[in-house]
Amino acid sequence: QFPFGRRLPCDIYWHGVSFHDNDIFSGQVNKFPGMTEMVRKITLSRAVRTMQDLFPLEYNFYPRSWILPEEFPLFVDEVRMMKDSDPSWKPTFIVKPDGGCQGDGIYLIKDPSDIRLTGSVQSRPAVVQEYICKPLLVDKLKFDIRLYVLLKSLEPLEIYIAKDGLSRFCTEPYQEPTLKNLHQVFMHLTNYSLNIHSGNFIHSDNVNTGSKRTFSSILCRLSSRGADVKKLWSDIISLVIKTIIALTPELKVYYQSDIPAGKPGPTCFQILGFDILLMKNLKPMLLEVNANPSMRIEHEQELSPGVFENVPSPVDEEVKVAVIRDTLRLVDPQKKKRKDVQNPEREHIECCKNKVNVGYNYFLCYRCQTLEQVSEANEEPLDAGPGASGDCEGSPSPEAGLPSLCLKQVFPKYAKQFNYLRLVDRVAALFIRFLGVKGTTKLGPTGFRTFIRNCKLSNSNFSMASVDILYIDITRRWNSMGIDHKESGMCLQAFVEAFFCLAQKKYKALPLHEQVASLIEFCEYHLAALDEKRLVCGRG
Ligand code: ADP
Repeated sequence: QFPFGRRLPCDIYWHGVSFHDNDIFSGQVNKFPGMTEMVRKITLSRAVRTMQDLFPLEYNFYPRSWILPEEFPLFVDEVRMMKDSDPSWKPTFIVKPDGGCQGDGIYLIKDPSDIRLTGSVQSRPAVVQEYICKPLLVDKLKFDIRLYVLLKSLEPLEIYIAKDGLSRFCTEPYQEPTLKNLHQVFMHLTNYSLNIHSGNFIHSDNVNTGSKRTFSSILCRLSSRGADVKKLWSDIISLVIKTIIALTPELKVYYQSDIPAGKPGPTCFQILGFDILLMKNLKPMLLEVNANPSMRIEHEQELSPGVFENVPSPVDEEVKVAVIRDTLRLVDPQKKKRKDVQNPEREHIECCKNKVNVGYNYFLCYRCQTLEQVSEANEEPLDAGPGASGDCEGSPSPEAGLPSLCLKQVFPKYAKQFNYLRLVDRVAALFIRFLGVKGTTKLGPTGFRTFIRNCKLSNSNFSMASVDILYIDITRRWNSMGIDHKESGMCLQAFVEAFFCLAQKKYKALPLHEQVASLIEFCEYHLAALDEKRLVCGRG
């Protein structure tokens, strides 16, 4: 540990909370810039909503959510409309303060009028979400799943999922929410940090009993009851990949801002904690993503009143040690060197950070102007079971004595099934191209005009004056939401909204995702032609 920094460079930096060090010029850091901001409740809800607008069916694993306070009137209206169209609908909602954790400030309501919008704590920005009333129960208790996911690289996208996770149990038998039981946190909230204070909490001394168990022990139980566990895993993998696809566009904006392409800087990887709830019908629903999941393998035990001792927790140890060990194995710089010696061609693939996803699994390398296609598997259902890693083949003996990898690669392994969803990623690539000055995350009016001009989007129906009005309207609205006042200009989400507007204008009759895809292709085509022209002029 180097609490006051360190002068000699390391090959791996393991930061406790977030990416915060601008003095790292090489090696690998275990956090991505901007990840903490991206997984906050409001930002995650916004990012998923953009994807829900484009692909509603594919993104139905996230409960319908509204952002408070700005969407309070919309929330009231939509709930009233849904109740009018279905009078038997008796919903419950869960209100979660933005940036909260461990169940802090969370409460359940039956009606929008129950939201506490006044008072200092309650007026915190929050997300209000449809409450999942029919979760899967084990031993009559509600539980959720914590799964560990390694985002090994952003460009090209590489995702690994740990094949075991934790199941965290409530400590009061579950009943569907009623006005009488809404306040019973030990019945409705699965947070370990809350339930540990219940008299019913049972510290597990093996992996399949108590208030915290391994996910695999639950799967065994479900499998013995005849449940289709393979399908469940496949749905979970799909949920994880789609969620990361929703997060990557903004992460790339943060990344280029903190670690500009072409300048010396580290590469990043990160272990994320996915919190997932299983519905009664075994459909997994995303609750939230943690950028800094607890890696504790001990718990506190009260020996006598007020006297605590840390004792090992076998369940945490079983799951978490494997995640950290395998993360280090996968990012091991020595292993990369060994691989490069064996396969020099790979050196180019690994080190080239100038690759841009140009769609349909093709990556264009700006450095050497070559196109690469990502190799894919097309297997159904998606599988993270033993032997699915695809990364440790050919590793020489240093790893021979270690257990097989618990982290299984799921992307690019299943890229083919999911690449069509990566539209906002391509919009973000356009945004980044026009940001101009390195180190910014917001687009100025000149950059927006250049984007319109270079992509040939203005015409007699859409003058440059209308372009300016569009820029001002959307930028002003996003900036008034108070997300980030550090820089002025258009943030990525505002650009995405403007892009969707332009797409709807240009390709009226199509569904939104086709309008957006068509406009992206139109822009990419014109920019490629421009690059070609510049290349020829440069050579001349
Ligand atoms: P925190 O970061 O404070 O833990 P979460 O979003 O994880 O916030 O919510 C806390 C707990 O509330 C979850 O672990 C889960 O048990 C419950 N919960 C959250 N959202 C929902 C929902 N939409 N439906 C049902 N239960 C939920």
